[in-house]
Amino acid sequence: MPELPEVRAHGERLTDAYAGTPLEQFRALSFTALKTFSPSPDDAVGNPLVGVRTRGKLLVLDFAPISFVVHLMQGGRLRPDEKQSAKPQGGLARWRFADGRALLLTEAGKDRKAGVWVRDGDPDTQEPLAELGPDADTVTVEQLAAILREHPGMRLHGFLRDQHGVAGLGRRLANEICHAAKLSPFATSTKLTDDEVARLHDAMRRCIDESLTYERGRDDMSSSKERPGSVHHRTKQACPECGDVVRAVEYSKYTVNYCATCQTGGKVLADNTTSRFLK
Ligand SMILES: [Zn+2]
Repeated sequence: MPELPEVRAHGERLTDAYAGTPLEQFRALSFTALKTFSPSPDDAVGNPLVGVRTRGKLLVLDFAPISFVVHLMQGGRLRPDEKQSAKPQGGLARWRFADGRALLLTEAGKDRKAGVWVRDGDPDTQEPLAELGPDADTVTVEQLAAILREHPGMRLHGFLRDQHGVAGLGRRLANEICHAAKLSPFATSTKLTDDEVARLHDAMRRCIDESLTYERGRDDMSSSKERPGSVHHRTKQACPECGDVVRAVEYSKYTVNYCATCQTGGKVLADNTTSRFLK
């Protein structure tokens, strides 16, 4: 899933290419695409695009005072629509601009989870953005310590992915941040020492910055395989820090990758899949 760095850099690219251009038409191409009834998307017609900013993992197309909040989820992509065909494959929605260009939201696979919310006024105070914690690259170390205290009993990996504590991180960055901070992905949110919270904060900034730099050097959003990292999707490969093998704890929908030497004092965490067989 595209996380904060991928959507941020993509928003910057779209802003560079489309800002200032008035909207001519918005059309939902799938009945699952539009998540709101009011206001009408037509209320944005004629308004120039102010820019495409991001909040967490979501894109915000600002046609002030109307905005379109776009959640790409796993397989969604928002790209220039060269063909503007009547029934594009996986097509969810299209924004056509006054200069004839268009942006097309598509979703690969059959999830049908990606979608568009139309908002009047400040979208940050409305669903689906209102419930998000602060963007992960904006929190201070003091804020992070307070947010961890407000989310007791959570495993660190789950806390980082949750979006209510901090927003913008997914499975990949949760894996990378725990590794960069030299913390167990299963450390308890409220049991981190001041030094550990400081390491976590520093690792969040470093991992986001690294991905953002990579992503800003591209013409289009990267695929998950291309993104930089040390442990994510690197099961059984060597840890670049210490040479130990990268280990995995498998869940049905994702994998927690970690290095025992760097993160858990050498302790090998129980692999859910294996433990179930052993019971
Ligand atoms: Zn290591």
